[in-house]
Amino acid sequence: MTAPADTDVAIVGFGPVGATLAILLGQLGRSVVVLEKWPEPYPLPRAVHFDDEVGRILQSCGVGDELRRITEPADIYEWRNAAGATLLRFGRLSDHPLGWPLSSMFTQPALEALLDQRARALPTIDVRRGVEVYDLVPDNDGVTIRTTNGDELRARSVVGCDGANSTVRDLVALPVRDLGYFYDWLVVDVILDDARVFDPLNVQICDPNRPTTVVSGGPGRRRWEFMRLPHEPLDELSDERRAWELLASWDVHPRNARLERHAVYTFRARYAEQWRAGRVLLAGDAAHLMPPFAGQGMCAGVRDAANLAWKLDLVLTDRAPDALLDTYEDERLPSARAAIEFSIELGKVICVPDVAEAAARDEAMAAAVGDELMDAPPLPGLVAGLVHPSAQHAGDVWVQPLVDGRLFDDVHGAGWRLVTVDTDIDALGPAVVEWFASIGGRVVRLAPPDALAGRWFAAHDAAWVLQRPDFHLYGTATTAPGAAALLEDLRAHLSVARPSLEGMHS
Ligand SMILES: Cc1cc2nc3c(=O)[nH]c(=O)nc-3n(C[C@H](O)[C@H](O)[C@H](O)COP(=O)(O)OP(=O)(O)OC[C@H]3O[C@@H](n4cnc5c(N)ncnc54)[C@H](O)[C@@H]3O)c2cc1C
Repeated sequence: MTAPADTDVAIVGFGPVGATLAILLGQLGRSVVVLEKWPEPYPLPRAVHFDDEVGRILQSCGVGDELRRITEPADIYEWRNAAGATLLRFGRLSDHPLGWPLSSMFTQPALEALLDQRARALPTIDVRRGVEVYDLVPDNDGVTIRTTNGDELRARSVVGCDGANSTVRDLVALPVRDLGYFYDWLVVDVILDDARVFDPLNVQICDPNRPTTVVSGGPGRRRWEFMRLPHEPLDELSDERRAWELLASWDVHPRNARLERHAVYTFRARYAEQWRAGRVLLAGDAAHLMPPFAGQGMCAGVRDAANLAWKLDLVLTDRAPDALLDTYEDERLPSARAAIEFSIELGKVICVPDVAEAAARDEAMAAAVGDELMDAPPLPGLVAGLVHPSAQHAGDVWVQPLVDGRLFDDVHGAGWRLVTVDTDIDALGPAVVEWFASIGGRVVRLAPPDALAGRWFAAHDAAWVLQRPDFHLYGTATTAPGAAALLEDLRAHLSVARPSLEGMHS
């Protein structure tokens, strides 16, 4: 006979993904133990970019104001050849429909410090550092977790947020697919003594003699990345002197700059083909790894956390069946794969050390590039999982309007939200509204909507949106009866989680 679980969720790994998941669960009142093998936070920069959707998710962790203080917005991401001709220009010079710049540049330790502080402020989260998990034994009631310092604890679910070499993934034998795309790059993080303007702020220099990334590393910091050339010895590139030699052509040297870190990374592309084994799930780098050119590795992991947290909450409180957790992989794996594939496509543009090949690339790309800024290809919306099968715009991420000058999520929180510009709220009927409240749902009338929401409703032929806690739309409706039907469909959908959707109203 096994002991009852004393914790709802044990999270293995306290990187940005484990921390985000812990906070989102803790905010929902779930008890969480986080087990992290290193006694101290990882001190060196890794990710430098997150996108607007991730900004919004982190805002929902209660760190939005502080996050704006440690980030530098970036509108344009330029790709140039060795001669300086533009090959690609991503970006958008517009308002920020999700309430965050399209790109924010930052240093990962500063973000992790914010998340650490927030997690420790939540009463149901217990962060234990210096504790390495080496064994998991799942059973009908929970999972027994053993750590190298002799502890044994029980949790109802375990999430492996334990990074690229995930022990959790190995312990439950979830298969990994490696796409065989990898390159070595020297990553150099620099703090310049004097403020300097870099225009463009973020640029990839597709020079076959030394493919190079030059980007912001957040306020006061710069990141250079230099690709290892064929036949270039690894130990030579790893030598600090080599980092300074490579930086010299940027007028960066020991008299005007401090090297925060230099290290050669092998960027890889791979993903776990299954993200769940019963009570054990994976998130973040444990589930997917990608080259850094799209700046999406951590972003994908933060999206995992946002997708999983509310589902775990509903299942662990018996408000939804266990099968809801299967929609996690259904929804997240296609998006993570799309991010990996886009990162590889970008890698194919820059990781070209052959002069003739680079010349052919330059000719083809320079002919195709226009003056217009390009949008990075959107990640696929949700097509399988907990989205309405026929409602318009189901699966899209909804905008974040302003309410009396404040961001919507700061005013109304980030749970299930039925948002409308209709005056006919009473027509929904009390029973379905009461059920909606039982899953943390709230009906919000925008009276009047701000310009962003007004434009959105007008352009999308809708008067109601039903938004999930991770900001994806379950569906939209044009009338109050249509919105009530949408709620009823959600109720039916949540009662079986992977139903045949025949017989639903709309
Ligand atoms: C050079 C570089 C540039 C990057 N640039 C970007 C970018 O611009 N944008 C972006 O979105 N992403 C970027 N990334 C990726 C990003 O850094 C990672 O995706 C992110 O750190 C993954 O977070 P995580 O929480 O999943 O894993 P990690 O940050 O790796 O955390 C995992 C944690 O688990 C702990 N752990 C492991 N095993 C155990 C165990 N058995 N028991 C207990 N604890 C354990 C580890 O100690 C670690 O703290 C970049 C990465 C690199 C290397």
